[in-house]
Amino acid sequence: MGEPGGRVLVAGSANADFVVHAAHIPAPGETVLGGDLAIVPGGKGANQAVAAARAGGASTAMLVALGDDAAAGILEASLTGAGVALHIVRSARATGAALITVSDAAENAITVAPGANADLAPGHLPTLSGVDWLMLQLETPIETVTAYARAARRAGVKVMLNVAPAQAVPAELLAAVDVLVANEEELAVLVGQAGSLADRLAKLDVPTAIVTLGARGCCALVDGRIVLQPAFRVTATDTTAAGDTFCGTLAAALARGDALAAALAAASAAAALATTRPGAQSSIPARAEVKAFMA
Ligand code: ATP
Repeated sequence: MGEPGGRVLVAGSANADFVVHAAHIPAPGETVLGGDLAIVPGGKGANQAVAAARAGGASTAMLVALGDDAAAGILEASLTGAGVALHIVRSARATGAALITVSDAAENAITVAPGANADLAPGHLPTLSGVDWLMLQLETPIETVTAYARAARRAGVKVMLNVAPAQAVPAELLAAVDVLVANEEELAVLVGQAGSLADRLAKLDVPTAIVTLGARGCCALVDGRIVLQPAFRVTATDTTAAGDTFCGTLAAALARGDALAAALAAASAAAALATTRPGAQSSIPARAEVKAFMA
């Protein structure tokens, strides 16, 4: 890998996922005995930062709010281990956490405690000097996400917004976005389900709008032109973080100077590989693996 060709700043969420497998999901008032507890790093922002760093060719930093607790240490170690430079806002709240029960039938029940993520505020944005792409998602307060996008637009920094988890987005945020990434459910929340994909992407009125379609690949509307990228064929066993892998890889690829079609191909290949491995950050492939897979 050569010298970094661009810089990505991810601003967003990090959660420690507390995962227990049990025979079934407990009903209200019920207690079930499960297996051993696994504590694994997650959160859309952190997953996307790891994906951008592993994608290579660009340097990646992350602005993240963490508590002063053991979970913060797990998240910091995973991010720095992947090569992400950290801007940490130390919160008096607990580090964000997701309490996940997975049943034998592969159903899950998830309770998220945003904790420190809710403390990320407009004033926390570090200098954008030298940053090429700012990568945002919606697991931190929407006023903060909007303020960051607007600051980036003023500074001439490109903005990629992953509109996840699904929710309505204020017009002033959309107006500051260069590339928007949604899955089908998120797109439906933003623009409804009537009309062709192209018509619905056009309604977003952003320069590049991308909808990811799981095993069917993705579709981008770029200045009125449709670009289709089929999925890479794999045997998917765990799609956790496929969307985050796609977004982080896309941001790094654009920052290192790839054209959109090449960036979509790299993002799709990395996301496909991620579906063949268990876990979130642990499933995200490095650039060399993606290149070998695409060759
Ligand atoms: P998740 O919430 O599971 O992280 P998502 O709903 O945000 O994912 P998807 O549209 O399911 O996003 O997947 C993102 C991208 O990952 C797809 O555009 C595709 O490139 C790749 N992908 C997902 N599932 C598969 C699959 N079964 N086979 C190959 N590629 C896949």
